[in-house]
Amino acid sequence: MTPEIRKQIEWTLLPLLTDVLPHVFANGAKFHGFRAECDACAASIELPEIHGDLVPVDGNRCVLNARAKCPSCEAFCEYHYLLNAEGEMSVLPLQGPSASLTQ
Ligand SMILES: [Zn+2]
Repeated sequence: MTPEIRKQIEWTLLPLLTDVLPHVFANGAKFHGFRAECDACAASIELPEIHGDLVPVDGNRCVLNARAKCPSCEAFCEYHYLLNAEGEMSVLPLQGPSASLTQ
C-alpha cells in the first residue's frame, strides 16, 4: 500500500466536519465552518463532504485539520487552519489555500 493510498483511507475515518461543528470556544464564540475550494479546479466543496477535527489550543484558538475529495475533479484537498476567536474571529491558513468564514 502506498503512503498516498493509506492517507486517503485514514481521512475517511475522521468525523464529518458537520458532526463537530459548530465549535464553541472557551469565550463562547462559535465557529460554523468555512468556504472550502478545491486546490486544483477551484470548485467549491460543501461542508458535508469534508472530514476533519478541531484541536483546541490556548487562548480561544484551535487548529482545524480537514480533508476532502473534490466532487468535480476528485483531487485530494487538505485544509489546515489556525482559528482565533480572540476578539474578531480570524482564520490563518497553516497550509493550503486561504479561507473565508461562513456565518
Ligand atoms: Zn477539483
